[in-house]
Amino acid sequence: MNTFREIILCKYGELILKGANLATFESLLMKDLRARARRFGDFRISHVQSTLYVEPLSDACDLSGLMASLHKLFGIAGITRAAVAEKNMEDILRVACAYLPPLLAGKHSFRVDAKRADKSFPLPSPEIAAQVGGALLSCVPGLRVDLHHPASLIRVEIRENAAYIHADQEKGAGGMPPRSGGKGLLLLSGGIDSPVAGFMMAKRGVEIEALHFESFPYTGERAREKVFTLARELCEYCTRIPVHVISLTHIQEELRAHCEEDYFTLLLRRFMMHLAERCAARYGCRALITGESLGQVASQTMAAIAVTNEIVSLPVLRPCIGLDKEEIIRIARGIGTYDTSVLPYEDCCTIFTPRHPRTRPQLEKVLSEQNKVDFAALADEAFASMYTVSCTPEER
Ligand code: ATP
Ligand code: MG
Repeated sequence: MNTFREIILCKYGELILKGANLATFESLLMKDLRARARRFGDFRISHVQSTLYVEPLSDACDLSGLMASLHKLFGIAGITRAAVAEKNMEDILRVACAYLPPLLAGKHSFRVDAKRADKSFPLPSPEIAAQVGGALLSCVPGLRVDLHHPASLIRVEIRENAAYIHADQEKGAGGMPPRSGGKGLLLLSGGIDSPVAGFMMAKRGVEIEALHFESFPYTGERAREKVFTLARELCEYCTRIPVHVISLTHIQEELRAHCEEDYFTLLLRRFMMHLAERCAARYGCRALITGESLGQVASQTMAAIAVTNEIVSLPVLRPCIGLDKEEIIRIARGIGTYDTSVLPYEDCCTIFTPRHPRTRPQLEKVLSEQNKVDFAALADEAFASMYTVSCTPEER
C-alpha cells in the first residue's frame, strides 16, 4: 500500500502562446484527454496555469496505460507521473523519501529544482530544494548532487492545493490539440507515406477523415483491411477516423480501354482528386491531405503535381513534400504504421501502371486524353459507390 497518492501532470505545448484562444484550445485538449482516460479507469481531470492534473479515483486505474496514451496526445509538451504531498516540509520530505528512491535506482547523481506557484508557502524555493536534496542523500546510498549534469532532475512544485514531487519529466507529443486546426480529408493508400502525412497534419491539430480508393476485385479484401488497420493505428493520435471508401474499378477499366497508357496514372490521379474534393464537401473537410513527396515517383514531379492539382480548388496539404523516403520511414516506424504499410497487398495505383509514365505532362494533352472517357458520368458512378467505416483504437 502506497503512503502517497500518485497522479499524472501534463504541461501544455505551444498553445500557451495562443492568448485569447487559450480557453478554446484548453477545452479541446481536456475533451480528448477525458475520452482517452475512460479506457483506463475513473479519473478526475482539471487544469490550473498551463498544467493538466489527472488524478486516479480508484486503485483499479491503469496509470501506466493512460501515460502511454497521453504520450500520443497532441498539445502536450511535457508529461510526468508525480506524487502528491501536503503543503508542509514534513510531508514533502516524507513523500520524497518514499516515492523517489525507486525512480533513482541506477542513477548516480541528481539535482532538485523547486518552484512555488503558491508564494504564501513559508520557505523560498532554494531552501525547499536544499532540504529535499539533503533528505535524498540520506535515504539513497551512493547518490550525489550534480547541479550541472544530473542523471536525474527532481522537481518539487508547490501549487495551490498540494505539493507535487516528480522525477525526469518526459517529452510529450507536442503540436496543437486535436480538432483545433479544422478538418482535413486524408487520401489514405496502403503505403508508407500517406499515414505519415495524416500524422503530421493531426499534429497541427487537424481532425482527420480518410478516403481510400480501391479497385475491387483487382485489389483484394486484405488490401482493404490493411487500410482500416492503418487508420486504427493512426487513431492512437486522433481518437476516431471515419474511412470513406470509393471504388475506381470502372474508371480504371475505361481509362485502359480508351486512353494512352502513358497517361493512366495522371488521369487516375485527377479522378482521385476530384472525388476527394466531393467527399470533402460532403463531410465538411476544408483541405485535402496527401503523402506526396516531390520527385518520389513520376506522378510527383512538379509538372505532374500541377496537372493533378489543377482539377481541385480546395487547398492540398502535402506535409511530406520535402522529406526523403528515409525520413518518412523513420516517422512511420516511430508512430507504429510502418509494419502494416509494408504488407504486400495490391493498391489501385499498382494495377494497370504505365511502363513509361509522363514526368513532364502538358495539361492540354492530359485534358484531351481525359476527354476520351465520360469523366462526369464515371465520377458520379464512383462517388455513388462510396461507403464509410468508422475506425477507433479500441478495435485494434
Ligand atoms: P503512399 O506510400 O502513401 O502510398 P506513394 O509513394 O505510393 O504513397 P502514390 O501512389 O503516387 O505515392 O500516391 C501519392 C498519394 O496519393 C498518397 O500518399 C495518397 O495520399 C494518395 N493515394 C494514392 N493511392 C491512394 C489510394 N488507393 N487511396 C487513397 N489515396 C491514395
Ligand atoms: Mg501508394
